[in-house]
Amino acid sequence: FPDFDLQAVRADFPVLAREKYGRPLVYFDNAASTQKPQCVIDRIARFYSYGYSNIHRGLHFLSEEATADYEAARSTVADFLGAASPDEIVFTRNATESINLVASTFLADHVPTGSSIVLTVMEHHANIVPWQLAAEKLGLKVRPVKITPSGEVDREDFRKALDENAGMVVFCHVSNSLGTINPAKEMASEAKAKGLPVLIDGAQAAPHIPVNVQDLDCDFYAFSGHKVFGPTGIGVLYGKAERLASLPPYQGGGDMIERVSFEGTTFAPPPARFEAGTPHIAGAIGLAEAIRYCKKLGYAAMEAQEQALLAKATAGLREISGVRIVGEAPNKVGVASFVVDGVHPHDLATFLDRDGVAVRAGHHCTMPLLEFLGLTATTRASFAFYNDLQEVDVFLESLQKTIDLLR
Ligand code: PMP
Repeated sequence: FPDFDLQAVRADFPVLAREKYGRPLVYFDNAASTQKPQCVIDRIARFYSYGYSNIHRGLHFLSEEATADYEAARSTVADFLGAASPDEIVFTRNATESINLVASTFLADHVPTGSSIVLTVMEHHANIVPWQLAAEKLGLKVRPVKITPSGEVDREDFRKALDENAGMVVFCHVSNSLGTINPAKEMASEAKAKGLPVLIDGAQAAPHIPVNVQDLDCDFYAFSGHKVFGPTGIGVLYGKAERLASLPPYQGGGDMIERVSFEGTTFAPPPARFEAGTPHIAGAIGLAEAIRYCKKLGYAAMEAQEQALLAKATAGLREISGVRIVGEAPNKVGVASFVVDGVHPHDLATFLDRDGVAVRAGHHCTMPLLEFLGLTATTRASFAFYNDLQEVDVFLESLQKTIDLLR
């Protein structure tokens, strides 16, 4: 059981006290985005109220303070990911932009024309479409790797894909639709053994499991602030120093240059080279606060609570006739995707909502995965450490009632 006082933790998240339709909110849509603790909300308010200024420019104290806060946030993120230096941390808008940045700047000079970008069928669209766009421009291919019936990467197919045609390997650390935790270190090491660069989409890993990019030995790692209890509009790209140094700029503008003249412009070293224009200063500061909050609770305690929620939900779902869980990897985060014979996921989600239970229904931005599984949609309940076990009861009761009604 969690090594924290769950009621006290829940009180940190004001939204959890809300009611709708006369029912307490049961927020089980954490894979889409997580709620924010009061300390994050307060930190952002404090910054805008008393410490706000643009960064890297002014010679006045407010600008110096804001710059120090922004750069301290970079150090907090570097420490969170186990990066070798804060200079390996680029602030972006979200995981999507982090992946697009690499797809737009890395491939042309590092991946031979005609080669393939190896990814898995369980990728989020954010880790498919940027590669497809770049592949079209650069004459590359995209090679999807199959998954097993339990929802794990088919390691044999993965090894097969790492052939002489492979140019780069990208995959999610954790699947948003299945919850599967991929053996990212082993997969990265197999790719590295073939000399292939690796990008890991950590959007669903960072909120649930400790991440260490040096241990993973990946070239790039991406995640979003809003999924780790931080604000929207801020994301992170980790890149190994020598990789980032080898990349051309992504966007041009202020703050990413060394010197601009009409004869030619020179660019700032990373990470500034990739942060054109005024960044989301408050977002970075809020994200750092969210990371501090998670560290204070401790990932071990967070994971213990999520696993208890997942175990209870899984056992309950297995007892309801006609329910099939989608994604039964032994190593999973708190994501329970399922389908119900004869009931459409959207109808389920709508009825659950009437009981105050917020879940997601649809393809979860993983259309190729659902196509591979022969499905068009699932219902997904996804948990965070602030959910409690009674909420799982409410969810299961509402689900049973809805199924009885609709079938
Ligand atoms: N990858 C995965 C695995 C995700 O779950 C998500 C968000 N659902 C993303 C990438 C994209 O995140 P964002 O929309 O914050 O860029």
